[in-house]
Amino acid sequence: MQDCIFCKIIAGEIPSSKVYEDDEILIFRDIDPIARVHLLCVPKEHYKTVAELNAARAETLGRALQKIGSFAPSFGLDGGYRLVMNQGEAAGQTVPHLHIHILGGEPLSWGK
Ligand code: AMP
Repeated sequence: MQDCIFCKIIAGEIPSSKVYEDDEILIFRDIDPIARVHLLCVPKEHYKTVAELNAARAETLGRALQKIGSFAPSFGLDGGYRLVMNQGEAAGQTVPHLHIHILGGEPLSWGK
C-alpha cells in the first residue's frame, strides 16, 4: 500500500533494523522501544487487523508465531516475552498494517 510506513520498510524504501526476513514476514526493531527488547513482526502482505484474516493470511500468521517462538532466545528474550497486537485506533493501533509487538528483555508489568 502506497502510504503505509511498514509497506515502505518491507520494500526497502525506508531503513529499518531488520532481525529476520523471509518470503512472508519481516521482523525489525521498533523505532521507539517501550521495553529493552521491542521488535515488530509484520506480514509482508498489507492488511490492517485480524478481522481481515483469510485462510492464507491465518497460515502465514501461524508460521510467524512459530518463527517468533523458535527465534526468541536469539533475540535476548529467553526470560519470557509478551506478544501484543493492537487492533484499531481505540486499542492504540497507529500503523494500519497488521503487526505483532514482541516485548521483553526485562521484567514486564501488566496494565491497559
Ligand atoms: P501500533 O501503535 O500498535 O500501531 O504500533 C506501531 C509501532 O510502530 C510503534 O511502536 C512505533 O514506534 C513503530 N514504528 C513506527 N514507525 C516506525 C519505523 N519507521 N521503524 C520502526 N518502528 C516504527
